[in-house]
Amino acid sequence: MKIYNTLTQKKEEFIPLEEGKVRMYVCGPTVYNYVHIGNARPAILFDTLRRYLEYRGYEVDYVSNFTDVDDKIIKKANEEGVSATEISERYIAEFRKDMDALNVREATVHPKATEEIDGMVEMIGDLIKKGHAYEKNGTVYFRTRSFENYGKLSKKKIDDLEAGIRIAVNEEKEDPMDFVLWKPKKEGEPFWPSPWSDGRPGWHIECSVMSRKYLGEQIDIHAGGEDLVFPHHENEIAQSEAANGKEFARYWMHNAFLNIDNKKMSKSAGNFFTVREICEQFDPQVIRFFMLNSHYRSPLNFSRDLVESAKSSLNRILTAIGALEHLLGSGALSRESVSEEEQLVLKEAEELDKKFIDAMEDDFNTADAIAAIFELVKLSNTHCTADSSKELGQKLKEQLVKLCSILGLETEKKEELLDAEIEQLIEDRQTARKNRDFAKADEIRNLLLEKGIILEDTREGVRWKRN
Ligand code: AMP
Ligand code: ZN
Repeated sequence: MKIYNTLTQKKEEFIPLEEGKVRMYVCGPTVYNYVHIGNARPAILFDTLRRYLEYRGYEVDYVSNFTDVDDKIIKKANEEGVSATEISERYIAEFRKDMDALNVREATVHPKATEEIDGMVEMIGDLIKKGHAYEKNGTVYFRTRSFENYGKLSKKKIDDLEAGIRIAVNEEKEDPMDFVLWKPKKEGEPFWPSPWSDGRPGWHIECSVMSRKYLGEQIDIHAGGEDLVFPHHENEIAQSEAANGKEFARYWMHNAFLNIDNKKMSKSAGNFFTVREICEQFDPQVIRFFMLNSHYRSPLNFSRDLVESAKSSLNRILTAIGALEHLLGSGALSRESVSEEEQLVLKEAEELDKKFIDAMEDDFNTADAIAAIFELVKLSNTHCTADSSKELGQKLKEQLVKLCSILGLETEKKEELLDAEIEQLIEDRQTARKNRDFAKADEIRNLLLEKGIILEDTREGVRWKRN
């Protein structure tokens, strides 16, 4: 697979550190509110990359953090008169619900900053010992100029950066580019003891520490939105490489922004929609599909019209699968032998499988991969009819379901029961009741309920309706 590496600014062949294994770290959210739909972009994209790598046979260790101590969390806690932990735990729970709806899988490890303070204190102490950090009045700073390669990810030069910084009068840093690793507590803030002061860590150190703890000193892929390149990821590299004396991450992947009217969606700009509110208006799968339908390094505009159009595109795929299922279930497609023409169709389908894989291998081009799925939809709609062979119908359906599932798009979950299937299940339930097998009767009722079918027992018999 080729991956565009922000570090080298080139597409590079992906070679993991250890054969068959991928160690990846994706910077997670600061949990002080519901996440917005822009935050969902990296979550969906890198979950899909993980799924694809697993499909290709890798074992993937996927670590993503929760930043659960931060100014914004503390501010919100003070506003509500509750503890910072109450705020962060509340929004971690809400985040998990949103991710679940979007079919983003749980990370292998999902560490919280507040549970990793010891590791941070240890790494900061080590950086001081090695001359890469220093303490002033209880605050610890990273000595940026001590790290020779500072700026290698963002391609920024310290001198240029410094030219743009105004130095505060009472500046206690040795150098304006130095950044905070540890800061003393202020009134009303959560704090932890450390050799330098009772206080809390700066933002960047948590990722260096958690990544090393759960994945090792060197990892394969480090990912996040492009706003993280500088300073967050640049600082992570400085901390990790200064502490470990080794290259930190081999491949740095950054998604472009989700925009509204060509402006980055962000909480601070106020131009955002939460995942929660959008999922009330659209099936979360549509959101997932919408995100995957463009390349991860291209900016993506968000509007309801664009999501509506993603909805009808996704429906075309689901309808094609539904039609195949209907043909297979209805007893049509009874022919056992595959005709010569069908052999050609199956060959074409195989080529589309390759086209899908080639797109994914080329810097994770999900947009082109989806285009291959549409070609398969067209092939299926044109060539699979009631006179087709069973094998053709079966193979096309399996292939469509497989390609969708690599992208984390569920085709089975949304599957609707056909009227005939419902009638049959109702009959089975009546039989079970006659035989006084109430457990089975209930089981059938629940199964129907799960599929959105509501039963009503009336004097004239059982009536049903779709929810
Ligand atoms: P935050 O909670 O702001 O640190 O963001 C969590 C993740 O969402 C990070 O990887 C950010 O880069 C990413 N992110 C934030 N806003 C956007 C946006 N508008 N489009 C794409 N990614 C974003
Ligand atoms: Zn990070």
